[in-house]
Amino acid sequence: MGSVRIHAIEAGTQRLDGGAMFGVVPRPLWEKRIPPDDRHRIPLALRCLLIEAADALVLVDTGIGNKESEKFRDIFGVSNEGETGPTKLEDGIRAAGFEPDEVDIVLNTHLHFDHAGGNTVRGPDGTPVPAFPDARHVVQRGEFEFSRLDNERIRAAYPRANIDPVGEAGLWDFVEGEGEIAAGVRVLPTPGHTPYHQSVLVEDGGETACFLADVCPTTAHLPLSWTMGYDVEPLVTMESKRKLWDRAEAEGWLLVFEHDPVVAWGRLSRTGGRPELVPLADDRTGS
Ligand SMILES: [Zn+2]
Repeated sequence: MGSVRIHAIEAGTQRLDGGAMFGVVPRPLWEKRIPPDDRHRIPLALRCLLIEAADALVLVDTGIGNKESEKFRDIFGVSNEGETGPTKLEDGIRAAGFEPDEVDIVLNTHLHFDHAGGNTVRGPDGTPVPAFPDARHVVQRGEFEFSRLDNERIRAAYPRANIDPVGEAGLWDFVEGEGEIAAGVRVLPTPGHTPYHQSVLVEDGGETACFLADVCPTTAHLPLSWTMGYDVEPLVTMESKRKLWDRAEAEGWLLVFEHDPVVAWGRLSRTGGRPELVPLADDRTGS
């Protein structure tokens, strides 16, 4: 984007219930877009974004990490074992030319387990410790507080082992609303999936990339009403998408998808009314 290099980092894959991923959309419609396995789950990427900003190396989201039980990994079909580190996230950072300890800022879109799970890893004695102990960790203050509600509908998505050790190390920085996190890296509130969910904009030289995160997890979720059953406020997600697509189309944004099993990024077209993704001309899907 302009002079800022961005990398789609594949931090592994997971499988989530197809019905839950598509909310009220009937299965005959969604299964044509992403076919489910024999346990009704669809494959999903755990794609993170590494941003070489002029003043900081920024990692957006951290995948699932290495702390979950075998039962958890089986239910959610997690495949993220690393070759050079705890998970594929660290492998991907190295493949992009950096060491994990060079990350200056970990930026979480929200704190669900498949976005903040790699914030911490099991230390030598088994207790979770920050995976990026030299990095500041940034999230919306409202999302941090929401994660602590201990409400029956939401708490399973927020294992404390992903969040508390970062706080105990004094590494959290909170933002409220829009804000610049590093040169050319801005956060944009896109509520609905959670009340304080945020997306990330990378802007330089007249170009913009938007890391959507769970406001639109895959290219199949581009239509406004194709929202997830996991969303706590699906009507709010719709309005977040409506605003995003207006800007994305007018300004020619590169849209980056965290969970699409195949496509990392592309540009939006609404020719004919329905929002669709136009792959890049040289077919750099990033995957
Ligand atoms: Zn997610």
